[in-house]
Amino acid sequence: MGSAYNENEIVSNLQLFEKMYDVVRLVDPLGKQILIYNDGNVSEYSQKCFIYWGKNKICDNCISMRAYNENKSFVKVEYSGNSILTVLAIPVESNKGRVVVELMKDTTDSLLIEHGSDFGSSMYQERIDGINSLAFMDVLTEVYNRRYINEKLPVDMLNAALSKHGLSIILADIDFFKKVNDSYGHLAGDKVLKVFSATLKQCLKREIDWIARFGGEEFLICLPGARIDKATHIAEEMRSAIENTAINYDGIDIRITVSLGISVINAGETVTLEELIEKADKKLYLAKANGRNRVEI
Ligand code: GH3
Ligand code: MG
Ligand code: MG
Repeated sequence: MGSAYNENEIVSNLQLFEKMYDVVRLVDPLGKQILIYNDGNVSEYSQKCFIYWGKNKICDNCISMRAYNENKSFVKVEYSGNSILTVLAIPVESNKGRVVVELMKDTTDSLLIEHGSDFGSSMYQERIDGINSLAFMDVLTEVYNRRYINEKLPVDMLNAALSKHGLSIILADIDFFKKVNDSYGHLAGDKVLKVFSATLKQCLKREIDWIARFGGEEFLICLPGARIDKATHIAEEMRSAIENTAINYDGIDIRITVSLGISVINAGETVTLEELIEKADKKLYLAKANGRNRVEI
C-alpha cells in the first residue's frame, strides 16, 4: 500500500468533481462513516446515505460496498419512480485504509443511453428506450414535456413538408383553471391536470399523434398528416370529452372546460415552428375571447 493517500489529499482532489456532480462523498462502508464534501469543506453526515435520496431503506445494490470489497469502480444507474440517479463508486487507498469516493448526480433529464440498431436483446432495448424517454416526460401529467416539443415538432414538420402531407397542431388550455386552484387547492388542481391530459390523450387513436405539456395548464397536440377537417374533428372530440368528464377529488366532482386553437400546415407550405405555434396560440386566444369551451380554426 505504498501509494496510499492521506485522507486530506483525497479531499483536496474532490474539488473538480463537485462541479460535475450533485453530491460528492467519501465513504468508509465498514466504519459507516460518511464525509460530505461541499465547497472545499468536509463534514460528517449523520444520516444514513439512503435518506438523502428520500428512500427509507438501504439500497439492494450498494455499489460502494461492492467497490470497497472488490477494489474496483462501479457505476449504478438507479431508476426510482420518476427520477434517474447515477452513482459512481471509486475505491481509493488512504492512510486509514480503503475508502470509497461516491459521486452522485440526478440524471433524470440528462441521461442518454445509446444502442446501435444491431443491439441484440429487445428486452434491454425496451428498457433503455424507457430510460431515455424519461427525459421527454412531464412528471406530473405523464405526457411529453416542452423539450419533446422542441425536438420532435421540427422533425414532424420537416417530414410533413417532404411527404407533401400536411400537419396540424392543437393548443388546448383549461378554462378558468386558476379558479380550480383557488376553490379546491393546488393538489386538486394537479389531479385535474392529470385527468385532463389523460382524457385528451384518449382522443388520439394513431401512434404518430402525440401530446405534450406546453406549460402550466396548456397542452400541445401534434397530428402529423392531419388536414383541417380531421384536426377540427379531434379538437371537438377533446372539447366534448373534457366537458363530460367529472374529475373526482376528495369526494368532490370538479368540472372543467377547455378552449382549443388549431393551426395547420398545408401540403407544400413552409412555415417555421414559431409561426405554427403562434397561429395556434392566436386561435386559442380567440376561443377564449369568444366565450371559452370552444374550438377555433
Ligand atoms: P383562462 O380561461 O383565461 O385560461 O384562465 P385560467 O385561470 O385558466 O388562466 P391563468 O393563466 O390565469 O391561470 C392558470 C393557472 O394555472 C395559474 C397557475 O397557478 C396554474 N398552474 C400552472 N401550473 C400548475 C400546476 O402544475 N399545478 C397546479 N395546480 N396549477 C398550475
Ligand atoms: Mg387557462
Ligand atoms: Mg394558460
